[in-house]
Amino acid sequence: MWYMNLGEFSGLFYLLAIGIMIWSLIVQGKLNRLVKKYSQVPAASGKDANTCVREMLASNEVYGVTIDHIPGEMTDNFNPKEEKINLSDTTYGKNSITAIAVAAHECGHACQAYSGMFLYKIRQAVAPVAGLTSKFSVWIAIIGVVIMYASRSLALNNMGYWICTLGIVLYSVVFVFYLVTLPIERDASRRGLKAMKELGWVSSDQYGAAKKVLWAAGDTYAVALASSALTLLRLLLMRGNRRR
Ligand SMILES: [Zn+2]
Repeated sequence: MWYMNLGEFSGLFYLLAIGIMIWSLIVQGKLNRLVKKYSQVPAASGKDANTCVREMLASNEVYGVTIDHIPGEMTDNFNPKEEKINLSDTTYGKNSITAIAVAAHECGHACQAYSGMFLYKIRQAVAPVAGLTSKFSVWIAIIGVVIMYASRSLALNNMGYWICTLGIVLYSVVFVFYLVTLPIERDASRRGLKAMKELGWVSSDQYGAAKKVLWAAGDTYAVALASSALTLLRLLLMRGNRRR
């Protein structure tokens, strides 16, 4: 089968792992820099993040979603169960470009939920399972490989192989979660940026700045996806190399 030949790519695997690590540092550094820079710049309209959220919800005909203040920096999120947009210390009541961009992005998630976006529904279904399997799936796969490696009988070797396969299948849920998350995050930013432009919260220069912030934030999800794809590849490599 195809995965039996993956062993030939182990050199390439390590190169990719290092590449993703460097990419992750670059993305995080860029995001931190942009967030900090545009936290100091007030939006041209003078409106604060809370006002913008209310305007965006109304213009998308999303009703019943409330705004709440949560502690921390950049801990902003949309909670679909509580129908709440949680804004962090750096966003709640603030009128910086960063604050408005982040609030508009979270509002984008509320709009996704209310418009019944297909990918969003998938993520909501997959998220609790992925949260669970992300904790132990890799360990199951490794235990399977150890059994395969240590076993002297064909039966034990087979058992290890299938335990490892179970771990890989469980980890696939995590991979699917990241796979659907990236387009969802990009879409939420697109929705937020559209509102920023149409509702005139920022000047055209500031719009460009907000776009940079949101795109840099989205890149962190691209890194997460690449990293989880590599973990999946790694597990397949480990299993493929050991079967007798
Ligand atoms: Zn988001």
